[in-house]
Amino acid sequence: MPKIALIAHDEKKNELVTFCKDHKQTLQAYDLIATRTTGGHLEAEVGLTVEKMLSGPLGGDLQIGGQVAEGKIAAVIFLRDPLTAHAHEPDISALMKVCDTHNIPLATNLATAKILVATLE
Ligand code: PGA
Repeated sequence: MPKIALIAHDEKKNELVTFCKDHKQTLQAYDLIATRTTGGHLEAEVGLTVEKMLSGPLGGDLQIGGQVAEGKIAAVIFLRDPLTAHAHEPDISALMKVCDTHNIPLATNLATAKILVATLE
């Protein structure tokens, strides 16, 4: 079954938690995958079951990108923080690139995430 990937930078984690609470019914019908810290928040605060990869800075974005390349991921919701510099910026770019390469829907802000989740309902 194709998975939905969920990732949020630290400044956006609260937004993602609220978004996932609002759309829990829809999201829990899918297999979910997330970077480690994001996934921990979604399990503890939303009650979703999430397959957790490494934390983003330790390679989690690349692990998810690898699964995008393998055709295992149907959509990515990645609430990135555009106002903070990240040491793992190359990994973030790689994840976005692989989504574009394989034509996988990628929402990088809440407005697009809402549109994307509406198509999953
Ligand atoms: P995290 O990773 O969920 O482990 O915080 C997200 C990121 O910074 O890419």
